[in-house]
Amino acid sequence: MLSVVSKASLAAAIAVTVAWSPVPNAVRADAQPADYFQFPLPSWEPHCLGFGSEWRYCNGTVLRRCSGSGAIWLHTGVDIKTGIQPVMAAANGVIIGYIVDPTFRGGVLIRHQTPDGVVITQYWHVWPRAGYSVGTVVTRGEVFADIADMGSRTHFHFAVFIGEYDSHTWNGALPPARCDGFPAFPYKFVDPTAFIQAHVEPAPPKIVHHGGHGLQEVGT
Ligand SMILES: [Zn+2]
Repeated sequence: MLSVVSKASLAAAIAVTVAWSPVPNAVRADAQPADYFQFPLPSWEPHCLGFGSEWRYCNGTVLRRCSGSGAIWLHTGVDIKTGIQPVMAAANGVIIGYIVDPTFRGGVLIRHQTPDGVVITQYWHVWPRAGYSVGTVVTRGEVFADIADMGSRTHFHFAVFIGEYDSHTWNGALPPARCDGFPAFPYKFVDPTAFIQAHVEPAPPKIVHHGGHGLQEVGT
């Protein structure tokens, strides 16, 4: 029963998103370039599903299968253990989508203009804070949302999509082989944890004091 509800609500969510995008270029122009990324939460401990895991609840219940083959869909993001806490933008960008799904709560997309092209970060199970909606410009590390309370299922879902928005940018999972009008995993999604780790701001160079100099200064 649960899976039927989530399928129907997901379909409704997908239908809604068509009306949300794209955001006009005038709004996008305000966003600063995204040279570096960071994790949206202060800690990054894996929950039940990783990138490419079969799309199941933690108890093993399958969330979605291909109607013909029965193949289980694969998770396009990474799930992270968390309590109710602030969620930060992974990089400079602009919010280009916000939808509410009865099962999965709020979903947010942020578009980033990077030196290597457009990247979109996907945040699920969050509630945007007051003043944050489609068109809002954000900077890296800026708190724009809070984790949504889903009781014992409370967690954070984060995905990284390479390229401009299309109808699949919202997907939390995709089939292992093309089915039911959806492209095969991973489509334009990449491992989010590996992507962030590869795009963090380099630590500033350490200032090295010469030992002899320091010793002399002690005596003055
Ligand atoms: Zn997830």
